[in-house]
Amino acid sequence: MIKELVKPKPDQLMALEDARSTIHNTLLCSLTSEIVEISNALNRVLSDNIISPTDVPAHTNSALDGYAIAGLDIPKDGLSELKVIGASWAGRPFVGKCGRQQAVLIMTGAVMPHGTDTVIAREFSRKTENGIKIDSTNRIGQNVRAAGEDLKRGAIVLPKGQRLMPAELGLLASLGTTQVKVYRKLKVTIFSTGDELRNPDETLANGGVYDSNRSILGGMLCRIGAEVIDRGIIRDKRQDVEVALLSAANNTDVIITTGGVSTGDADYVEEVLRDCGELNFWRVSIKPGRPIAFGHIKDTVFFGLPGNPVAVMVTFYQLLNYALCTLMGESDPRTTPMLKVRCCSNLSKKAGRTEFYRGILSPNEKGELEVSKTNKQGSGVLHSMSAANCFIVLDDECEKIEPGNVVKVQPFFGLV
Ligand code: AMP
Ligand code: MG
Repeated sequence: MIKELVKPKPDQLMALEDARSTIHNTLLCSLTSEIVEISNALNRVLSDNIISPTDVPAHTNSALDGYAIAGLDIPKDGLSELKVIGASWAGRPFVGKCGRQQAVLIMTGAVMPHGTDTVIAREFSRKTENGIKIDSTNRIGQNVRAAGEDLKRGAIVLPKGQRLMPAELGLLASLGTTQVKVYRKLKVTIFSTGDELRNPDETLANGGVYDSNRSILGGMLCRIGAEVIDRGIIRDKRQDVEVALLSAANNTDVIITTGGVSTGDADYVEEVLRDCGELNFWRVSIKPGRPIAFGHIKDTVFFGLPGNPVAVMVTFYQLLNYALCTLMGESDPRTTPMLKVRCCSNLSKKAGRTEFYRGILSPNEKGELEVSKTNKQGSGVLHSMSAANCFIVLDDECEKIEPGNVVKVQPFFGLV
């Protein structure tokens, strides 16, 4: 959904941070909810808090394999001998009471027998004919997991807006949960634009280019759990662009196009958005990725990305990921932490824009991380994204980096 607010002038060349805050201040989730099985819930976003129906763990239990005893039987000094009177297995508790000077053999996760509050690890006990000997180095209460230690009954286990990843699915399963209420999937329609483009299964005409952007976007959108509607390639005709965008806008939450958003004679995306929808901005001071249009057509959020495949990946990573995750209802979308490491390459740039070099982050012989740029950096050189494992981020004011200088680095996470 798009909030009404004072809009910046669309023609301004916007700083990256301003573009980010414009997007963040403009978008909010308006998706309805649905109930899904846990087995289908990976990467979905909770639309309600999950409240714990029980204590976790439900019973006080042993943290390791050993002997459950009353802590008061630990000797002040020397050794004391305890008689082993039975065993407590995971899922098969010891029935009865463990008295003073007695011990119960216990397995990891097994319920602590009545009368015990301490577990002696096997390796810290010595077996005797009828029992075990323990020494004074043990502490009362050690190696025991208390009921409710992870979670108390009634506590919020996971908040609304949480994306469900494997740890969260495990947590839900640990509560005996089989179904969860999540936002429906965000529908994202993608188009490529360009007369030169062909699908990979077509014959390439003279001057033709295979369309890689829809594969890139399909992959990145899949990673964040969107429902992708692939509407193919639009030819560079104003009428075609207009018809395609207007018809898509009725059936989707978001439209993403690539190409045709610059100032060339065959670039119609920005013009159509101005006429048929609303343009928020379309020029951001980043490289690669300067022409990127953001706005809406009817109630559908619109992003027009540049044509060059690397620019598509950079703008998705830097701007769209957060925006789309917000539209999906995620309250705290993952962003990669920025690291500061020594750079091994010469880099140069113009002041006044943020640049994203593709970098390879690796440890040197001392085990300290350092970064080098990948060989070719052109925004059409998709191989540079495949070879890289991070962005080297050069801020607006920076003009030159020499080997040994410290740079900001953003490691790729699951998106690329
Ligand atoms: P444009 O922004 O439309 O001027 O495109 C910029 C450059 O990116 C041109 O060299 C296009 O051929 C190339 N390009 C545009 N779309 C794609 C695509 N879907 N796949 C690969 N290259 C593309
Ligand atoms: Mg084009």
